[in-house]
Amino acid sequence: MEVFGGLLVVVIFIGVLVFVLPRVMGGNRITCNRCDGTGQINERWPDPAEPSGFHVAKGTCPKCKGKGKVTP
Ligand SMILES: [Zn+2]
Repeated sequence: MEVFGGLLVVVIFIGVLVFVLPRVMGGNRITCNRCDGTGQINERWPDPAEPSGFHVAKGTCPKCKGKGKVTP
């Protein structure tokens, strides 16, 4: 039982590290809500302001520049 207890503590410790470290090291960066963190966009919807009548954007996300994260 002591072996399992020690293992559980290690697992919890690693879990906390994995959960906390990216937040600490990455500051308060959040997942980009335009590309949903993928860094790539594939957008197409009707837009009267565009000459073609459609808003079309593909490729690298202009909001996060392909990183998938933005600083709020
Ligand atoms: Zn993005």
